Amino acid sequence: MPDKLTIGLDIGGTKMAFAVVDSSGNICDETVIPTEHDNPYEVTISRIAEQLNTYLDQYPNIFGIGIGVPGPVDNERGIALNAVNLLWENRPIKSDLLENLSRSVPLYIENDVNVGAIGEHLFGRAKETPNFVYLSIGTGLGGAVMLDGKLMRGSTSAEMEIGHISLDPVNGLLCTCGQRGCVEMSMSGKGLVATTKAHYERFADTQMTLDTLSTYDIIHYANHQDTLAQFVMNEAAVALGLSCVWCTMLFNPSLIVLGGGLIHATYDLLKTQTLATMEARCLPQSYDAVTVTLSQLTNAALGASALVWYFQKDTFGVSSHLTQDNTLK
Ligand SMILES: [Zn+2]
Repeated sequence: MPDKLTIGLDIGGTKMAFAVVDSSGNICDETVIPTEHDNPYEVTISRIAEQLNTYLDQYPNIFGIGIGVPGPVDNERGIALNAVNLLWENRPIKSDLLENLSRSVPLYIENDVNVGAIGEHLFGRAKETPNFVYLSIGTGLGGAVMLDGKLMRGSTSAEMEIGHISLDPVNGLLCTCGQRGCVEMSMSGKGLVATTKAHYERFADTQMTLDTLSTYDIIHYANHQDTLAQFVMNEAAVALGLSCVWCTMLFNPSLIVLGGGLIHATYDLLKTQTLATMEARCLPQSYDAVTVTLSQLTNAALGASALVWYFQKDTFGVSSHLTQDNTLK
């Protein structure tokens, strides 16, 4: 019998990545199309459905679709609550897509951070790890928690907004959420740039210039001993370390997986200070139990495909499935 296949779709602000994935996490087929986020919502839904139908017709053994969306999602009702980059507010993408599919298959929607966590759990660094925290570090900083193999859910799909916990509510930099001193004003793409600008005058010897300042520049200069860039990286490392301290003390995970483009580009610069902050601030029994690692999955569509296995584990029995295949371990 041919292997069961799933489709994963990552909807981003600029591109939509599709992948047909087998039960071992191998990509059998994939394509990327531009998001064209200026299109009306209905046009985007019909473009997505067209590509999904191409795969559903081509691969009869596809049994589910997983979709990652930026921003908060009501996963039970399949609604994108506020995908700012796509200009989607309260859009029922699950029902709208199901109406347009050529055959009926289960479809699951999650926000992209939860997708990252579930993807790492099934196909990446957190395999066979029931208790772990996933932190996604890019333009902002968000997180997800898996306890006993189950994603932690809040009451309004707004759990783990760790990026908006304030480190300095009085004197910290103003965040887009309205507070001052949020974690992501130090440890995120926008935070690195904002911190550099805020402290620029204090570092007369810096090589950086503000008019064209990018995250890439800050990383580059930090690697070349620029004192301001190194100061900014140290602030980021402490903020990340404190985030990891809170996660460790609250959830007692065995693993913290750090995902997102920015952390892969900066972790070598950050890790000594981040781990020192954790060691100094965690209780020893919690600190000794936890390992910090970078994420493994580079393809967000692969992570999205893992939603199908995750949500159907009660139906199909993920543990027995995994043991039989001996591949998802
Ligand atoms: Zn904030």
